[in-house]
Amino acid sequence: MRILILGGTGEARELARIASGERGFDIVSSLAGRVANPRLPVGPVRIGGFGGVEGLRTWLRENRINAVVDATHPFATQVSAHAATAAADLDLPAVHLCRPEWVQRRGDLWTRVPDLAAAAAALSQHGERVLLTIGRQGVGAFADCVRHRFVIRAIDAPQTPLPQRYELLLARGPFTFDEELVLMSRHRIDVLVTKNSGGAQTEAKIDAARTAGVPVVMIDRPPLPAGAVAVDDVSAAVDWLRTVGSHSVH
Ligand code: NAP
Repeated sequence: MRILILGGTGEARELARIASGERGFDIVSSLAGRVANPRLPVGPVRIGGFGGVEGLRTWLRENRINAVVDATHPFATQVSAHAATAAADLDLPAVHLCRPEWVQRRGDLWTRVPDLAAAAAALSQHGERVLLTIGRQGVGAFADCVRHRFVIRAIDAPQTPLPQRYELLLARGPFTFDEELVLMSRHRIDVLVTKNSGGAQTEAKIDAARTAGVPVVMIDRPPLPAGAVAVDDVSAAVDWLRTVGSHSVH
């Protein structure tokens, strides 16, 4: 069974590692090519966009793919919509591997907002010093926040317009609880802005904000593609693949 894993996440790498060890599974992983020096999964990898739904359909056909696992980041909505449509068009089994979101706990000071623009607007209710941890692509949404001073943390430098006052921290997680606490205290952070990515890899900043009493502007997740079959961890995705594999054999 030839399987496409749409990746760019730790879960996608973990799934590629486990599934490539299974008899009868032939895996290829796909990355968007956004990060200059990506962490690569084991096994074959292709890098770059497919060229929309049409390009993805063609690629799936030409590569005789039998099943698709969309293990992209919960905020990567476009590729997920394309994957759901292309797989449905070709009648291919597809699953969305999506880690659970973070839920508010006692002591959390969250303002929940629907998108980046609302996150930028919500800063008017908060102090001056902002820790911005939304990845580099959405930083432009904060370019007009002239009253605030940003610490922007990202893997690569943003290419979008930037706020007037900022410091760039180029770093790749995971970060520990202690590291996050020190960061927030050293920069005297008044508010953290984050997407609700979920998962353990970047959760330490949420725990540190709770401990330090730092408010969080939490960007809610976009919905999954309509009708998507979803699992929330790697072992459930492996089980799904085994089930699909057993149906395709018999
Ligand atoms: P997006 O907006 O959903 O996708 C934009 C376009 O990038 C897609 O239409 C597709 O191009 C291409 N693309 C995205 N993921 C791809 C993949 N795995 N393989 C091949 N092409 C892909 O995605 P995004 O938010 O820019 O995220 C890009 C990648 O970074 C994703 O793989 C995601 O897992 C990872 N990532 C995203 C975030 C985030 O916050 N968004 C955070 C961490 C990691 P075509 O239409 O040409 O096929």
